[in-house]
Amino acid sequence: MRGRTDGVRPVGRGKVWLVGAGPGDPDLLTLRAYRLVAGASVVAYDELVSPAILGMAPAGAELIPVGRRANGCRHHESRIHPAIVERALEGKDVVRLKGGDPFVFGRGGEEAEELAAARVPFEVVPGISAALGAAASTRIPLTHRECASSVTLVTAHAPGDPGDLASRIPPSGTVVFYMGLGRVEETCAALVAGGRREGTPAALVSRATLADERVIVGTLGDIAARVRAAGVEGPAILLVGEVVARRVESASAQEVGVERAAIG
Ligand code: SAH
Repeated sequence: MRGRTDGVRPVGRGKVWLVGAGPGDPDLLTLRAYRLVAGASVVAYDELVSPAILGMAPAGAELIPVGRRANGCRHHESRIHPAIVERALEGKDVVRLKGGDPFVFGRGGEEAEELAAARVPFEVVPGISAALGAAASTRIPLTHRECASSVTLVTAHAPGDPGDLASRIPPSGTVVFYMGLGRVEETCAALVAGGRREGTPAALVSRATLADERVIVGTLGDIAARVRAAGVEGPAILLVGEVVARRVESASAQEVGVERAAIG
């Protein structure tokens, strides 16, 4: 397997590579991720990883689904799937593919802690996170000299009162909500309660960078209704901020499935 090695590998241990698989489009893998998958003997993956990426593994590779939905809830308390640690302790290298970037809402930090505790050597390979993939494919810049000098990545599913949401988000700048498809209404209401204008532009991007990507554009006041009416499927992220109004149409904006709406 190519890539850097850390030199001090406990005898008999395999290494685990926590690899970002990007937002979906296989072309958005890093070269390192591609090389690791193409040379892997064991690939552990979660549900966000595209079949096309798994198809890059060698024919004889063992493919292990380890998403939270794999095997029902069996490994819920244990944060990394036991099969990953088992294979490493057997001396096998494991490519652990995670959607987007492993250290952005992927629990990659927790998996890394567990690997360290089990004295399994590991390395992290960054990937293109959903926010970056969605921004590029919808041509919505995340920052803009005239209207957004920060980007905040937020989970819409943090424990606690959704009303707290506004207090965790800067009063201006771009905000990207992960894991929020089921909570668009509450999320927008919390931002408005926290002082953002109802007319603030917002866009929901589902299945960003994949062939069936969809974009719903509106405002904090109406995006929830628009998303409901459109019947969108996940995974999806919600982009909020003036940058959404700076969406740059390409000369050939004829994408199938892209819905446009006037921004109020
Ligand atoms: N580590 C991942 C995020 C994992 S959390 C990353 O860096 O992208 C899972 C959430 O990511 C989903 O609920 C959704 O909000 C977002 N997501 C992942 N892939 C996506 C895609 N192709 N399009 C839109 N949102 C996506």
